[in-house]
Amino acid sequence: MLPFKLIYSDAYFLPIGEHVFPAEKYRRIRDRLISTGVADANDFLEPQPATDQDILLVHKPEYVQKLKTGTLSPREELEMEIPYSRDLAEAFWLAAGGSILAARQSLTDKVCISIGGGFHHAFPDHGEGFCMIHDVAVAIRRMQRDDKIRTAMTLDCDVHQGNGTAAIFAGTRTASALLPSSTSTVQQPEGAPRGKMRGAHAGDVFTISLHQHNNYPLHKPPSSIDVDLPDGTGDDDYLAWLDNAISSGLRQFEPDLLCYIAGADPYREDQLGGLNLTIEGLKKRDELVFRVARTHNIPVMVTYAGGYARRIEDTVTIHCNTVIAAKEIFASLK
Ligand SMILES: [Zn+2]
Repeated sequence: MLPFKLIYSDAYFLPIGEHVFPAEKYRRIRDRLISTGVADANDFLEPQPATDQDILLVHKPEYVQKLKTGTLSPREELEMEIPYSRDLAEAFWLAAGGSILAARQSLTDKVCISIGGGFHHAFPDHGEGFCMIHDVAVAIRRMQRDDKIRTAMTLDCDVHQGNGTAAIFAGTRTASALLPSSTSTVQQPEGAPRGKMRGAHAGDVFTISLHQHNNYPLHKPPSSIDVDLPDGTGDDDYLAWLDNAISSGLRQFEPDLLCYIAGADPYREDQLGGLNLTIEGLKKRDELVFRVARTHNIPVMVTYAGGYARRIEDTVTIHCNTVIAAKEIFASLK
């Protein structure tokens, strides 16, 4: 039995037909975790859908109304890049409910993983890039409304920049300022291409995004810290940047909750990514995040976001490794 809970429902499945987004990954992850003995059935909690009131903590009433009545314009549906249906909207309401439950559970168990969610390209008034509802933002706002937390930090390690997250929490931020050069504190191999780190002060939610610079989204609204990684960044450079970004973030900000968006798409075999991380490197990434959370005693909730490996089994392995990493880091707590 795991020392924390996994949030999962069969209804996390996104009914989007043949699509580059492997909607069946959630069920496969659950099945793999059980068949390999990493988790058993008692480790899983079934979420309830978020209420409309929860969704409205982040999203505009007009947009929510369109989603509930199926009245998105063709252009809005095209921008979302997934085919609208009432069932699909319900799956996103459930993902948001799963993230709310993961946030709440992490406050008691130190860590909680939702085998879903991480829809970081959703904006208050529209969906984008396979994302309809920003489940993580909804969870943060709900925890704040319930007075469970005051502040939160998002740590987005999906290969694509967290544009929705940056936009949603931008209102609480002052003008951006350049961080001291990170190159002095990050060891990089001689001649390795250098990434760029940009930073801004935060309000009640501090946002960090590590992503490939030359990738979707074209327009990247500023996060509190953005790390723009060059094409082909490998394990060692990535881990150094990650370590640097978290350290910098935690010097500037004290979060009551860490929201880790653990995308599987920085993987070298990803169809929509251009970084060069190995499966082992991605597990080290997860371990680093969990070790920092544990050391600083910050509750951490995890969502899964993207993953488009040529072999879906690799995506499943990467996501399962996140659970194994949490198990290894947090096992000795109880
Ligand atoms: Zn992605």
